[in-house]
Amino acid sequence: FASSKRFWAEVNNRYEEYGVDPRRPLVPPPRGFIAPEELYARLGAYCAIEFRDNTEASLHYQLGDYRPEPFSASENYRNVSGVGKLSVLLESHDSPVLLSVESAGRREIILESLSKEGLKPTAVSSWSEFNQSGTTFGITVTDITRELFTTPDGPALISEDQLFGQRVAQKRRRKREEETDTQVIIRDLTELRPGVPVVHLEHGVGRYTGLEMLTIDGHDAEFLLLEYANDDKLYVPVGSLHLISRYSGGDEDTAPLHRLGTEHWAKARKKASERASDVAAQLLEVYAKREARVGYAHELDNAAWEAFCTGFSFEETPDQAAAIESVKADMCAEKVMDRLVCGDVGFGKTEVAMRAAFIAAHNHKQVAVLVPTTLLAQQHFNNFNDRFAGWPITVEVVSRFKTAKDIRDVSRRLQAGEIDILVGTHKLLQTDFGFSDLGLLIIDEEHRFGVKQKEAIKALRAEVDILTMTATPIPRTLNMALGGLRDLSVIATPPAKRLSIKTFVREQNIGLVKEAILRETLRGGQVYYLHNEVKTIEETARKLRELVPDISFGVAHGQLREQELEKVMSDFYHQRHNVLVCSTIIETGIDVPNANTIIIDRADKFGLAQLHQLRGRVGRSHHQAYAYLLTPPRTGLSSDAEKRLEAIESAGALGAGFKLASHDLEIRGAGELLGDGQSGQIATVGYSLYMDMLDKAVKAIKNGKEPDFNIEVNDKTDIELRIPALLPDTYIGDVNLRLSIYKRLASCGDQHEIDELQVELIDRFGLLPEAAKHLFIVTQLKLLAQTIGIKKIEANAKGGLVEFYQDAN
Ligand code: ADP
Repeated sequence: FASSKRFWAEVNNRYEEYGVDPRRPLVPPPRGFIAPEELYARLGAYCAIEFRDNTEASLHYQLGDYRPEPFSASENYRNVSGVGKLSVLLESHDSPVLLSVESAGRREIILESLSKEGLKPTAVSSWSEFNQSGTTFGITVTDITRELFTTPDGPALISEDQLFGQRVAQKRRRKREEETDTQVIIRDLTELRPGVPVVHLEHGVGRYTGLEMLTIDGHDAEFLLLEYANDDKLYVPVGSLHLISRYSGGDEDTAPLHRLGTEHWAKARKKASERASDVAAQLLEVYAKREARVGYAHELDNAAWEAFCTGFSFEETPDQAAAIESVKADMCAEKVMDRLVCGDVGFGKTEVAMRAAFIAAHNHKQVAVLVPTTLLAQQHFNNFNDRFAGWPITVEVVSRFKTAKDIRDVSRRLQAGEIDILVGTHKLLQTDFGFSDLGLLIIDEEHRFGVKQKEAIKALRAEVDILTMTATPIPRTLNMALGGLRDLSVIATPPAKRLSIKTFVREQNIGLVKEAILRETLRGGQVYYLHNEVKTIEETARKLRELVPDISFGVAHGQLREQELEKVMSDFYHQRHNVLVCSTIIETGIDVPNANTIIIDRADKFGLAQLHQLRGRVGRSHHQAYAYLLTPPRTGLSSDAEKRLEAIESAGALGAGFKLASHDLEIRGAGELLGDGQSGQIATVGYSLYMDMLDKAVKAIKNGKEPDFNIEVNDKTDIELRIPALLPDTYIGDVNLRLSIYKRLASCGDQHEIDELQVELIDRFGLLPEAAKHLFIVTQLKLLAQTIGIKKIEANAKGGLVEFYQDAN
């Protein structure tokens, strides 16, 4: 089903992409193909479908004329294990029984458990082979996991779901889907390539240089080779991958490599852990203080609130509604609000802010809305003005567009209490504007304010309610580490009817550019053309003007004078230009709802987070948005760039930013939540380790204990069986893939997880070779040994005796 959906999406994309030329209209996909849902609905009438020789497909047993009796899991079978159920059936049913399992991997696992009970089915490849085989008990791999039927005298087909419970299979399937998500979103160890820095818990930051096979005692084993300062080498057995994490936290090329055998790493780790404890303690203290502080309890007249809510022209998304509820609760309680609303661009954070502003203004408290740029100020002002029209609430804005006299006037009215909501840039903080009764500060994108302004905000923090809005995803690890220390509302789902941005990665092609521009402008929309080189941007604009002569182009980049820049942006906003040829400065620009196509030149040069951010400039209304990521010939792209582009293309889905939370965003998120002071520590020990430390510290302090940062390097049992235990490269050729499997195996916490991984391997790569079987056995043994406190298991070289040790010696 998944592959037919992919195919269907591809057909539709191509139709979208090429279907605009009125002289050469294309046949719409539904007229040429059957949509997957419909196909499956039609096929649903059959209980089995067999494909032969790739040419002839035969539909078996149309249910219309063949009504099998459902095999009911009758009372007898209750509380009986799957294998038990099967035995009962085999005894009670006279005709042959065919057990259908989901995959080759499942077949191996099920055969294993069946053989323990003395049941040995014959493996067959199809229903017809089974019928011809004359065996009474067969096992086959099919997709039929739901239907199960018997006929009184005919053969019975039993699916594994029926025996082992459907939930198990569903869970497995769901899990696998998640995994493919993460596979796409190149992450962690899978994206390890030679040269990348990693953190070894015991030895510090080194560079990964590859997997190497070493022969020890006559047996092959695989090791990660890490390089440290002075070209020192460290071989890490693949079984110890749990000690390795990806180093992110600074520039990869200048990662501070440690020297093996020195105290540096231990010291750095100690220092970082102390800092983490400090931060944790600080956070807890701030939190406790805030909880204890008595704030203004706003009152809310239900009728007015209802009326204001009805003024919102959409239905709130569930996340939005929850955020609003939390804000309302914060403000109406006798405490000082300090809430962070975190949601991807365009997910509707502004409405949350407006509700907060309404509650404050309704209580005759003044509201300051702080935004990072003048243009944004203007935009927010317009939005607030519209939203509060009809209410006796006055909204004003201060920006550079206002004369000194205007500003003095605003200030005077503010002091007189004539202004309820004031939107503006950091000017609001700088000058003594003299709010007569400031009650609520709303901050948009705090990370874009400078240090001084942040200090000023901090100073206010104790006194007024604060609502901070950010589009920077807060990584799950960080959120967990903080354990609810910050009041956080996450808006993770887009408004309904919002379409995901159609994203195409294509080689630079003048025809395509023209088509994309024309298509957008013909439907009345606007286009960003991103060309991130100031030297050649004018030339690019000239070429584009030639290419599409009849429309208006603006050019915007960071080297324009500020006024010029504001003018061109404002012109674009007011639709005086059709196309804005621009550098990345638009990344943080204003919202132009009418711009719904972005073309990014040399998309291969951007990082994942930046591409996501840039693409977020479009698709902010209910129009279908398009992003074209243009590259030089694909063959010349580094595999890294290739992967990034693939990731962003497939993560066109809304809210993917939260999934994409790639390393630089993680760090930004950490900075936003913890304060920028943490980045130094994150840079020395890497992001993952620091989060670990923070997590431990918060938990310990909460429980009134000293955090224990001693690493439990030796918590895994050391096993040396003198047999080859590895994934041969003939089995899994791709080094990174092998590595990630090693890592997952090393991280398995119980037998069930090990089984699942084994199933997956067999399904993906075929039956396990001997050495891989050993690897699984060793892992199982390790787990068992650990639970009963055995530290080391060693095969005796002479007699092959296995010796156990209670401690590492
Ligand atoms: P953010 O501030 O999170 O970037 P906005 O609040 O500016 O996003 O919302 C983007 C657009 O979505 C606005 O035009 C807004 O009116 C619209 N919008 C907000 N909430 C909803 C909703 N629940 N349903 C439909 N549209 C919404």
